Amino acid sequence: MESPSEHTDVLKNLLEVKNLINEACKRAVRSAPTVTLVAVSKFHDAGRIRPALKAGHRTFGENRVQEASDKWPDLKREFPDVKLHLIGPLQTNKVKQAVMIFDVIESVDREKVARALAREFETSGRNLTVFLQINTGEEPQKAGVLPADADAFIKLCREELGLQVEGLMCIPPADEEPAMHFALLAKIAARNDLQGLSMGMSGDFATAIDLGATHVRIGTAIFGQR
Ligand SMILES: *Cc1c(COP(=O)(O)O)cnc(C)c1O
Repeated sequence: MESPSEHTDVLKNLLEVKNLINEACKRAVRSAPTVTLVAVSKFHDAGRIRPALKAGHRTFGENRVQEASDKWPDLKREFPDVKLHLIGPLQTNKVKQAVMIFDVIESVDREKVARALAREFETSGRNLTVFLQINTGEEPQKAGVLPADADAFIKLCREELGLQVEGLMCIPPADEEPAMHFALLAKIAARNDLQGLSMGMSGDFATAIDLGATHVRIGTAIFGQR
């Protein structure tokens, strides 16, 4: 059960985050509409998400296919123009389910998943926009293709698999300056003529916007601690 004050909280936080995004855009001499706020609602229930929907917010992110499939069908019936982004790892056995519930897949992180998605887009007729995840920190435990393999992966996804690649996504290492990772992602995108850059979370989205983010994925600053 949510108390009314928790709802006020989410709305206040959402407005504040939007203001901070606008300020960061001004500093970076960019117009605000070029940055899409993906409100990351993972681990929060429908009661906590609905106030943001009622306030007109429409772009949300979830990191688990099962959790999204449990939570979002009802909310999507209520708010049909919602755009739901998958931002977490996708297993090939969940691809069919993911394509049904999500509108954008931000975490295409390996060839096997890219191929499975291409097949599912063909059978379902739902050709979702995707982002390719780059492991900019080259962390062994983290998903994403290595920077050195990025150009070939982008080419494979676009040309051989016919995916609608909007851009690239990264999650910088927790203990490093994020700016160098954002700059690296921007550089890889630019040399491949990709417009979309999904980078920046609650702690570093202003820096990400300075460096060209088109999508920021923000959870804690809107919905609170998980
Ligand atoms: C949870 C998550 C976020 C949001 O992180 P916050 O620090 O809560 O803003 C962003 N991106 C990914 C991939 C996540 O899993």
